Amino acid sequence: MTLNGNLPKINKLKFREKKLVVATHNNGKLNEIKDLLKDINCKVYSSIELNLPVPKENGSTFEENALIKSSQTTELSGYASLSDDSGLMIDALGGAPGIYSADWAGNARDFNKAIKKIDYLMRYKKDFNAKMVCVLCLTWSDRKFKLFKGEMKGKIQLPPRGEKGFGYDPVFIPSIQPFSNKLLTYGEIEPEFKNSNSHRNFAFNKLLDFITNDS
Ligand code: IMP
Repeated sequence: MTLNGNLPKINKLKFREKKLVVATHNNGKLNEIKDLLKDINCKVYSSIELNLPVPKENGSTFEENALIKSSQTTELSGYASLSDDSGLMIDALGGAPGIYSADWAGNARDFNKAIKKIDYLMRYKKDFNAKMVCVLCLTWSDRKFKLFKGEMKGKIQLPPRGEKGFGYDPVFIPSIQPFSNKLLTYGEIEPEFKNSNSHRNFAFNKLLDFITNDS
């Protein structure tokens, strides 16, 4: 599936669906997204609860993969769906792992393994700039869709620190911090703070703006 940068224009399309499936099998993402959705007035399911298969992500961008996940989820469930394609992009590694963020953790999704790989590849690097990227795709039950992107700049922290988050959280120090005198990783930051100051939250705010504004 290729978007070629041409997104369909969907003006004045609002979200009035009564059921929504969060198109993910990743519990870390699911918890964050469920928290973000708590004020939305509809029944929220996940791909895990509905026993849906894991979609094959063969897109070449976060946007394409987000669309693949939500369109397949809507196709199979018949409900509107919300997918998240996200990952870590490290400047000194040319933007890797990027869309391969989950793959670096192997089939067992072992993030110690992914973090060891980063540690190895970064051993002679001086530039620790990185960003976390999140693209959300909302697909309505009639198959229309809209993409929302959020980014959080930051730095890579090695060795990793903290056990509060998931995935790459222990190696990422976000540029927005809860305290002025400390630089914490997402693994050390309280989830409540992360959930209101993250790439995912920024993308989600764009989604909320879209579904609640008339223009
Ligand atoms: P995908 O979006 O399913 O392709 O997976 C992206 C991978 O990036 C996941 O396996 C996550 O563990 C990782 N990732 C995505 N968002 C975050 C985040 O907020 N913190 C840490 N890791 C993340």
